[in-house]
Amino acid sequence: MIADLDTRKNQNIKNILQTTAEYAIRYLRDLDTRKVIPAQDAITNLTQLDEPLSYEPVDPELVLHKLDKIISPATMAIAGPRFFGFVNGGSLPVTIAANWLATAWDQDCGLYKITPATALLEQVALRWLLDVLRLPPDCAGAFVTGATMASFTALAAARHAVLKREGWNVDADGLFGAPPITVAVGEEVHPSVLKALGLLGLGRNRVVKVPVDTQGRMRPEAIPTLTLPAIICAQVGNVNTGACDPVAAICERARELGAWVHIDGAFGLWAGAAPSLAHLTAGIENADSWATDAHKWLNVPYDSGLAFVRDGNALRAAMAITADFLPTVTNQRNPSDYTPEFSRRARGVEVWAALRSLGRSGLADLIERTCCYARQFAKELQAAGYQILNDVVLNQVLVSFGSAETTLQIIAELQSEGTCWCGVTVWQGQTAMRISVSCWSTTDADVERSLEVMLRVAEKYCRGASQF
Ligand SMILES: *Cc1c(COP(=O)(O)O)cnc(C)c1O
Repeated sequence: MIADLDTRKNQNIKNILQTTAEYAIRYLRDLDTRKVIPAQDAITNLTQLDEPLSYEPVDPELVLHKLDKIISPATMAIAGPRFFGFVNGGSLPVTIAANWLATAWDQDCGLYKITPATALLEQVALRWLLDVLRLPPDCAGAFVTGATMASFTALAAARHAVLKREGWNVDADGLFGAPPITVAVGEEVHPSVLKALGLLGLGRNRVVKVPVDTQGRMRPEAIPTLTLPAIICAQVGNVNTGACDPVAAICERARELGAWVHIDGAFGLWAGAAPSLAHLTAGIENADSWATDAHKWLNVPYDSGLAFVRDGNALRAAMAITADFLPTVTNQRNPSDYTPEFSRRARGVEVWAALRSLGRSGLADLIERTCCYARQFAKELQAAGYQILNDVVLNQVLVSFGSAETTLQIIAELQSEGTCWCGVTVWQGQTAMRISVSCWSTTDADVERSLEVMLRVAEKYCRGASQF
């Protein structure tokens, strides 16, 4: 009887996982041929989800079937090779599979003593990351959900460290009565950094905004004298232009001033992993903390961000907790001493799998190849007479097709045509189409197909227009 139950349970697991693997395989295979936007009837069918919760249990296979039938066709093909809307990337197949296995393990990767295997794996991944991103090898690091939380985490350490120098323990005593911290950001700061500052009680609006150049780079000579304690938030990889702040000069200025330097390098930090692009992040090792995403250019599943902090004591002071019921370990890295989360999934598993399978050369190739496609988009669109608004230094291209109205019409038609998907932005007052190339699976053929449609649609709206 018990054996029988066992067999049934295991059979059930096998059926569910194998069927779901089939759904996933078919989904990923279809990404190449389907439209990037979801079909209208698939969106309409979503109303079928709007049902009352049944009292009786439902067979798990039916549950999964419903997910695949209703949701799969209604998704945006972000994971596919011709989604250029945001710096999204897809997931390398090895990372999807590693994610499944890690989910089966169901490790709560907060405490070394409970989950030593995944804790150690993350430690190895961290060491590799510091190496490929050209950061100091003794930095502390944290696996968090995204670059927003990575900046939050790193800036919590910054807040601790700069106030400690003033004799104030912010994590024990809070911000009331603490010496005010001056925070400087570039005028082109990503809004997520401002959000992180707000969450930390440093205020979204009480920042000093440093002027930027035409590409959105902070001008180091324009950084004013900052009253200490102070933090400067620089950026590597502007979401519009891809431009990188001159980090070496900013760090030098910060050193004169006595300020902490935090770098938001959500995608741009990965330039350091590609020999032909590493000059863009020169001097990066002189900052104090860094935030980046793995779910963007490293092409691992959501949600995966990374915070690095030179002063590990500051990060631990901000994050670690103790209690009698929590086992401690000496001489081992306790993951939750570094993250805002306590219980969490072992998201470093996918980072490890991506790095392990790509190797240094595969990672460099992924970064360089996508940048090369960005240059190809820029070159061919420019050759056809359209205006490229940015210096294409990384994987970002901003193109104007003329007036704002024409540009918006072309983007809308391209999006609904469905071969590829690009978004809208406004760069220094000019409406533009934004192309971000960051997916591992994008090929020459994808770029050619996309360009062919872009030029055809643009031609339709611009024919007869005399100039751009
Ligand atoms: C994407 C991005 C962020 C936010 O990252 P999340 O992973 O969405 O939290 C922050 N800064 C820059 C420059 C980005 O490109």
